Amino acid sequence: MRVAVVGGGISGLVAAYRLRAALGERAELVLVEGAERVGGTLRTVEIAGDPVDLGAEAFVGRRPEIPALMRELGIADQLVHPAGKRPLIWSGGVARPLPERTLMGIPAEAEAVAGLVDPETMARIAAEPERPLRWERGGDVAVGALVAQRFGEQVVRRSVDPLLGGVYAGTADTIGVRAALPTLAAALDAGSASLTEAVRTALPPQSDTPVFGGIRDGYRVLLDALRAAADAKVETATAATRLTRDGAGWRLDPVGPVDAVVLAAPAPATADLLREVAPAAADLAAGIELASSAVVALALPRDTPLPDNSGILVATGEPLRAKAFTLSSRKWPHLAAREVALVRASFGRFGDAAPLSWSDDDLVAAAVDDLATVTGAPIRPVAAVVQRWPGGLPQYGPGHTERIAALRDTLADLPGLALAGAYLDGVGVPACAASGTAAATRIAAHLVGDE
Ligand SMILES: Cc1cc2nc3c(=O)[nH]c(=O)nc-3n(C[C@H](O)[C@H](O)[C@H](O)COP(=O)(O)OP(=O)(O)OC[C@H]3O[C@@H](n4cnc5c(N)ncnc54)[C@H](O)[C@@H]3O)c2cc1C
Repeated sequence: MRVAVVGGGISGLVAAYRLRAALGERAELVLVEGAERVGGTLRTVEIAGDPVDLGAEAFVGRRPEIPALMRELGIADQLVHPAGKRPLIWSGGVARPLPERTLMGIPAEAEAVAGLVDPETMARIAAEPERPLRWERGGDVAVGALVAQRFGEQVVRRSVDPLLGGVYAGTADTIGVRAALPTLAAALDAGSASLTEAVRTALPPQSDTPVFGGIRDGYRVLLDALRAAADAKVETATAATRLTRDGAGWRLDPVGPVDAVVLAAPAPATADLLREVAPAAADLAAGIELASSAVVALALPRDTPLPDNSGILVATGEPLRAKAFTLSSRKWPHLAAREVALVRASFGRFGDAAPLSWSDDDLVAAAVDDLATVTGAPIRPVAAVVQRWPGGLPQYGPGHTERIAALRDTLADLPGLALAGAYLDGVGVPACAASGTAAATRIAAHLVGDE
């Protein structure tokens, strides 16, 4: 029994690990990864002698997938949580606390965004429940269009954009309500009379459980553990180039004949591979757009007077180049203990990939200048690392949920083929891990289901 996994990001590695658990030693697993290293958008490097993540640096800890994987793999002692500090938002040249109790920046009452938006916008939010709301049940629109229409443009640019930008490297204009805010879509479908009412219904109950988790020595600990447990033949610098049918199985170039395949590459590469075997699915996957971004990690002298906040998000339209800063040493207690202060600056988002073409020196200089502007602190890095993420994040545009449902439908009669990846059910690491598990379950059921 021979199974191929295409793509060595978290989705593909989890799929390989779950396939090994389900199929045991009798299965030959081959994982092909186009890049020189596995991990995809997870990457841990050394800075000032210690590990730091340049892609994802956290995961939603209220979801079970990553803590469960860490327990299974014997690395639960690596689980860490943030200190619980709040981020700031930089808007109008001033840093203020990020509004609390919002749904991805959408307030449930005007008071939540007091100071961040003008009095006219405050009055508009307060009066919103009185204006009749038109919502087509089961429909979808961009988050920005809905929020601008009900609460005004300032709420979109100063509160929603910075938060959606952090997750999708998109803006509220490119992200759909149904995929990004499913509980809000459900409240609207159920007949909420206003956006205010829908946000109140959709807000999760307040809880003291930490929202996020992280890995003490970086994501590479999880990647290494998955790779070891999967015991797959991993071929890096080897892109899958073509998928065709081969009797009851498949032929994947350059791997050769296989009984089943998990495609865990980003949407465009997956579309290319589906082209011959499932052209309708290929079209659906090809329609998913990607955002590009870059991260600059800075190590600063430990006594740099940074604010006591987890990060600083930048409102749309500010005359800065950076979109956000994570004040890693303030955010994570385990990083606070280091000899340097760590900060990550993020650049670029959907529709603005220009920073990816800047030189490393220019990116570092922009990170230093903008960080000095938003903190007022002297920024003198002792070390800096630049990482570009071209096409790193899929955009969950309006209609995305339906697109994915249709994509799955078109593959229903090809049970030896499964998809995993960040464009399916969520971009976060837990959702990607879940997609890898689901893909492995589908393949295992096909291969051993009738034994
Ligand atoms: C800057 C940044 C910060 C983020 N921060 C967070 C965070 O804090 N928390 C969180 O939960 N999520 C975060 N995310 C999102 C999360 O990291 C990603 O969505 C997730 O890691 C994607 O995993 P994946 O395996 O689906 O895809 P990828 O990591 O993209 O892996 C796909 C792999 O497929 C390979 N590939 C492509 N084509 C082929 C081919 N033809 N043949 C073989 N291999 C191929 C690629 O080289 C790549 O390695 C962040 C993303 C970015 C870009």
